[in-house]
Formats: sequence, structure tokens, C-alpha cells
Amino acid sequence: MSEQIGNLTFGIIKPDAVRAGKTGGVIKRIIEGGFKLRGMKLIHMTHEEAQGFYAVHKERPFFGELTQFMSSAPCVVLALEKDGAVKAWRDLMGATDPAKADEGTIRKEFATSIGENAVHGSDSEENARIEISYFFSQLELV
Ligand code: ADP
Ligand code: MG
Repeated sequence: MSEQIGNLTFGIIKPDAVRAGKTGGVIKRIIEGGFKLRGMKLIHMTHEEAQGFYAVHKERPFFGELTQFMSSAPCVVLALEKDGAVKAWRDLMGATDPAKADEGTIRKEFATSIGENAVHGSDSEENARIEISYFFSQLELV
């Protein structure tokens, strides 16, 4: 994986979007956006797993709310490939707060609030590598 990491990013279709039946709609946007799916699975995180994933945010006031939400229902974890994948996926997702997200972004179309904002995306190549490894084994990446 290491030789191609610049072309990979990590994404999550969050519990709000899965619960609302938007999984297919989000996947359609990802494929139409030119991403190749390298890994994909439906999981239901424990609270401890969500706390581990978002450990970087543990001092933030919304950490409890965020980790409860992320472990409240199933989500879909994704390893996505495209040239410049980290930026391309964040551009397609849109701003964290859907009220500030550009037209045509996934968060503009599917997110309901700054907390329940439909999708996650890595913010750097280093974090993409860490986040893919948190959820996927080598055998699960095609
Ligand atoms: P992003 O997901 O766009 O990278 P952050 O890394 O800043 O955004 O935050 C991680 C997640 O924490 C957000 O996607 C959102 O679900 C939640 N979050 C961020 N800011 C807030 C907030 N002010 N109130 C509630 N939840 C928030
Ligand atoms: Mg972030």
C-alpha cells in the first residue's frame, strides 16, 4: 500500500446518512467523482472504537456527542483511490458545516447539521494511511 498512498484516502458514510437510506446515493457520487473503491464495508463501531478513531479531537467540546453519534448505528468505511485523493475527496465532501458547504458537494446534498454531516474524509496523506489501517487489513484492500 505504501507506494500508492498519495492516491488513497479514507472515508466514512456516517450513521446519519446510512440510517436515512443515503448509502447508495453517496456511493454513486463517489464513483461519478472518479474515485475507485479499494475497500468498503459496513461496520457498527463500539463507543471505544469511535473514541480511538477520533482521539485527535478528545479535548474538543463535541467529543462525547461525536463518538456517541458515530457508534449509534452502522456506517460504511471506505478506502478510495484517485490522483490527489485526500484533497479530491475533501472537495467532493464539502465544508464540515453543511450550511457552509458549496453546491454540488455531498454534505450540501446529504448532511443535516455540523455534527451529523453524512461523511468523513482524511485531512492528510499521513492520516489517510493511519485511518485506513485502523479499519482495514491488507487482505480487505483490493
Ligand atoms: P471534518 O469532518 O470536516 O474534517 P473536523 O475534523 O473538524 O471536521 O471534525 C470532525 C467531526 O466532528 C465533524 O465531521 C463533525 O461530525 C464533528 N464536529 C465538528 N465540529 C463540530 C461542532 N462544532 N459541533 C458538533 N460536532 C462537530
Ligand atoms: Mg477532520
